[in-house]
Amino acid sequence: MKSFDEVLRDAEVAHGHLCAGQVLGVRLAMLGLELLGIDDPHGKDRKRLITFVEIDRCATDAVAVVTGCRLGKRALKFRDWGKVAATFVDVDSGRAVRICARESSKTLARQMHPEVENKNQQQMLAYREMPSGDLFSVQWVKVTLPPEELPGYKGERIVCAECGEGINFQREVRQNGRVLCRSCAGERYYEVLS
Ligand SMILES: [Zn+2]
Ligand SMILES: [Zn+2]
Repeated sequence: MKSFDEVLRDAEVAHGHLCAGQVLGVRLAMLGLELLGIDDPHGKDRKRLITFVEIDRCATDAVAVVTGCRLGKRALKFRDWGKVAATFVDVDSGRAVRICARESSKTLARQMHPEVENKNQQQMLAYREMPSGDLFSVQWVKVTLPPEELPGYKGERIVCAECGEGINFQREVRQNGRVLCRSCAGERYYEVLS
C-alpha cells in the first residue's frame, strides 16, 4: 500500500484539485481497506473489493482512486443518499464495513485550527491529523450481493417490450405481464422532446 501522501497526490491528480473532500475520502477508503486487511487493491487484491458510495461529491473521487473500484468495472456502486459514507465489501471473505464521516468532525476541525480562516484549508489540515475515531463512525455490516451485481456477471440481455432498447443485468421490470425497462415502467428521469 502506498503512503497517505502518495495516495493523496494520486487523488488530487484524478479529481483536479486538492480539497478537504480528498483528504477525507482518502482517509475513509484507506481505513476501509485496513479494516478488511486488503493491502494491494490495484494489484493482487483487485478483484476482491466492491465499494458502495453514498454521495456524488469530492470524497467519492478519492474513494475510487484509493480502492481502484470503478463504475465501468461494476465494482463501484452509487446509492444517492447524500451522505459522506462508503461501504467496502470483501467479496472473498464476505466481510463488509461501512464508514461514515462524523457530523462532529467539522466542529472539531474548527476547534483544532481556529487560526486558519479558510474553511477548506482548516478542514484539510484537521482531517489529516484527527484520529480515525473522531473523524469516522464504523459499522460492520452484511451486504447481500446477488450474482447480477458482481463484476464478472454475464446474463441474458432482454429487450423492452415498449421502447425496444436492450437491458442488461436483470434490470428489467415485469408489469401487467409485460417486460419493460425501468424508464418505460415509470422511473423515467427525462422527458422525450418533440
Ligand atoms: Zn474537491
Ligand atoms: Zn423501455
